[in-house]
Order: sequence, then structure tokens, then C-alpha cells
Amino acid sequence: MRLTVVGCSGSMPGPGSAASSYLVQSDGTAPSPGDAAANRTWNVLLDLGSGAFGPLQTLLQPHDVDAVLLSHLHPDHCADLTALAVWLRYGPGSVLGTGGAVPPERRVRVIGPAGTAERLAELSMEMPGDVAATFDVETVADGDELAVGPLRVAAHEVRHPVTAFAYRLTGPDGEVLTYTGDTDSCDGVERAAAGADLLLSEAAFTDGVDEVRGIHLTGSRAGALARDAGVRRLLLTHLQPWADPERIRDDAAAVYDGPVALARAGQVDQVLAHS
Ligand SMILES: [Zn+2]
Repeated sequence: MRLTVVGCSGSMPGPGSAASSYLVQSDGTAPSPGDAAANRTWNVLLDLGSGAFGPLQTLLQPHDVDAVLLSHLHPDHCADLTALAVWLRYGPGSVLGTGGAVPPERRVRVIGPAGTAERLAELSMEMPGDVAATFDVETVADGDELAVGPLRVAAHEVRHPVTAFAYRLTGPDGEVLTYTGDTDSCDGVERAAAGADLLLSEAAFTDGVDEVRGIHLTGSRAGALARDAGVRRLLLTHLQPWADPERIRDDAAAVYDGPVALARAGQVDQVLAHS
């Protein structure tokens, strides 16, 4: 499994990065035997937040995205699906001039919380039916499992002011990537992260500065999650533009003995199964 950071800025785009979006790619064969193109590289996005559609175009043709997993429906995690919708309808390979439904083979799966289609309609000033003519929207609940090509995905509900999920992705060799989405410490994110080869964890808040609970992790809370879940590596993301990244990394490293790094836009990371 290969992870590319499309955008990692917390809560909004920053001067050096778009808001949350991560491209996960895996070569493999889909379990569904009917798909002629099943044995190929699969492209899955974790979130598509504000500004992320720009750098996404440097990585692939947006219509080659197979699925978008939405952690939750705050705009810094889903706003640029509006741009993907326009691309699918009017961009390269579209049925020019119709402005109507996107053919089924060209639609992108969008997987998110209940209310996803309505939220996307609201962001685009459209009707939910227009969203359904562009995306194949599926909603998930806590504990749901699904497949995207060769990847197995499990959704775990986490602790945020709106319904939010962490996603646990297992690749064809058994490698595990966990993405926390936005969350404070909770059982759901610990379940999602258990034994992961890479934990991509938000750490939006700063210990000793942001005292409000129930919204975000801090460096030390992300570190404690990595330690308690027994993950192999920790990659911190969703730091807000005004935060001090080194301080947040140090706070994580103070409680977690494994490797800790800060996500950077454009960074590529191979997620390998541990032997
Ligand atoms: Zn949020």
C-alpha cells in the first residue's frame, strides 16, 4: 500500500498545504470476478478537503479515483468533492454538453456518514438527485466493513462534534494503515489503530494550549494512542497553520517510543506488512 499526502493542513488550507486528503494506492485484484479491469492499481482517497483538488491533479487523473472515504462532513475534509463532481461531469472523457448523469462506469464511490449525499448537495447548491447522478454514495456505521478493490476497509466511529469515523485499511499483504480522521481519544480510534503498521493520526491541538475536549487529539494524546494501540509508526497530520509542529511532535515522542514523523504535502510513504 502506498500513501501520498495530498493535503495535511488542519481545519483549513495552510500556506504550504491543502486541507485533509490522502491518496492510498494498492496494486491487486478485486474480489469481484466480473470487473475486467480488476487487476490494476486502485486509487482511494481518504477525505478530499478544501484546496486538495489542486494537488490531486499532479498525482493522477481525478476520474481514475475509485473511491473517496470521508471521515466526516466538515468542509476541511469533504469540500473539494464539489470540484471532483464538476470534473466528472464536464472534464476529460465526460459526455460533453449534456451536463446530465455521469455514466455508471465513470462514477466515483463516495463512502461516508449518514447524510453524505445531502451534505454534498448543500455544498454544491444542488439536489441530492444530482449528487446521485455523479457519485455512488454509500453510508457507513460503526463497525461496518467493505472492500475497495484489493483493500479491506473498516469504519470505526470516533469522538468529534459531528458523526465521524476512523478508517482501518488492510492491504493485500496484510499491511494495515489507520487514519484517525478528526477525533479526541476514544475506544473507536483505539480499535481502528490496533497493531497498525502506520497510524496516520491527527494532532490538531497543542498540549497545554487547547484545553477543550471532544474535538481533537494533541501530540501527547496521539502518542498515547500509538503506544496503547501498539502501532509500528506514527505520522502526525492535521496540524493547524498556526501550530508549532516541532512542539507537537515532541509531545507525541515523549509518550511513544516508536518512530514519529510530521506529514508533509506531497510526501510518499510505503506501508509494508510487518514480518
Ligand atoms: Zn472536523
